[in-house]
Amino acid sequence: MHIDDTIAAVATPLGEGGIGIVRLSGEAAPEIAEIIFKPLKAEFPLQSHHLYYGYIIDPVSREKIDEVLVSLMLAPHTYTREDVLEINCHGGIVPLKKILDLVLANGVRLAEPGEFTKRAFLHGRLDLAQAEGLLQVIRARTEEGLKAAVNQLAGSFSQEIKEMRQQILFLLAPLEAAIDFPEEDIVAISKETMKTKVKELRDRVLTLLEEAEKGKIYREGVETAIIGRPNVGKSSLLNALLREERAIVTEVPGTTRDLLEEHINIKGIPLKIIDSAGIRKTKNQVEIIGVKRAHSLVKRADLILFMLDAAEDLQDEDREIVSLLQGKKVIVLLNKTDLTQKLTAKKVEKLVDSAKIISISLMQGEGLDELEDAIYELILSGTVEIERVSFLASTRQKQALLKAKDLLEQVWQNNINDFDILSLDLQAAYAALGEITGETVGEDILDTIFAEFCIGK
Ligand code: GDP
Repeated sequence: MHIDDTIAAVATPLGEGGIGIVRLSGEAAPEIAEIIFKPLKAEFPLQSHHLYYGYIIDPVSREKIDEVLVSLMLAPHTYTREDVLEINCHGGIVPLKKILDLVLANGVRLAEPGEFTKRAFLHGRLDLAQAEGLLQVIRARTEEGLKAAVNQLAGSFSQEIKEMRQQILFLLAPLEAAIDFPEEDIVAISKETMKTKVKELRDRVLTLLEEAEKGKIYREGVETAIIGRPNVGKSSLLNALLREERAIVTEVPGTTRDLLEEHINIKGIPLKIIDSAGIRKTKNQVEIIGVKRAHSLVKRADLILFMLDAAEDLQDEDREIVSLLQGKKVIVLLNKTDLTQKLTAKKVEKLVDSAKIISISLMQGEGLDELEDAIYELILSGTVEIERVSFLASTRQKQALLKAKDLLEQVWQNNINDFDILSLDLQAAYAALGEITGETVGEDILDTIFAEFCIGK
């Protein structure tokens, strides 16, 4: 892997801001500082981990580009463990871009997304689970999610994985000895102990898998589906919750053809709201796909907001939707109560078992507070469960855990007398767990993971 060249990127979000940072990492960093930076009261070489005030000056045109604070951090005590140069300039696209261009004009390469963190990983500063934890920290949508992500970044999850791998090594050692010296009867561990230990390991993996499942809610939010036949006001509700016009609202039935996903936060609880095309029979191809997805949506959603039109009597389509809602957590929303009401809360009382019914008018913005309270209460009361977790597993990590679990189970399903097979299964489980911390992943997987980061991270 070629990581010798020096990379640079803007490390702060683009847009107007008080300060912006251009960050460089690699061998050329100290030299670039000498070429483009003019400190006001200091001489080169700059001391490591000190902050210098001065100007960025184009060495060719002598143009003063910005007033800056510069810090040079020499390896190894840096984020990437390489020499790092950080230029704090004024926020705003023009100074940031000019400084970055100047750096690039002097032989530095533009960093790929996540490349700083990738270098930190390749130099052993973080393992892969921690790097992914970092990604979750950046993306955390709630305080609870942030706590779990910070925990993971600190390495608690990695530690658990490393301990389990160590355990597998302990089991492998006597096996290997027995395979290498079959004539000497030297298996230092009984089959029963082997079985028990492997089962213990399997249980530990299982616990992690369960926790990974719970963590999904913090990462992605409580999956909330807005369901109802066309034109009852589903998009209007999504818009109202988002307080911005993201979904298209029209008066033609069936315009919300695809699923829209939006993340909102209700009193600290993250919801992933999914607006679906109305569940109804239709000949329109595009809409059929939407309808199909709505069906599967009901199945997978943690919470369902089922919408009815108060200005119209109950229709077959409404009843058809009701039949899908058995056993789901549902809030019934009676919308358009500003119009002459044909459907009342009383009439729909027994429609969906134990569901709360809330009358709203999206047109007049009424009933939304009550809806938010109801969602909050359902979740806090534990009706829709969310639990504390200590890490947030990515899909990739979950798959690796699953693989490890299957392999460990295979160990005692296979013939425990055959040391070769036993050893191979254990080695494979060892490798699967290693994928989580990054000890045993290929470069293609690394590339996919780091590509999820933004440029400059
Ligand atoms: P969807 O097909 O279920 O997504 O419904 P839309 O959100 O697109 O709304 C359909 C129509 O109903 C639009 O013309 C909305 O302006 C209208 N509408 C939504 N909510 C209300 C309401 O509370 N009162 C009235 N009078 N009209 C509403």
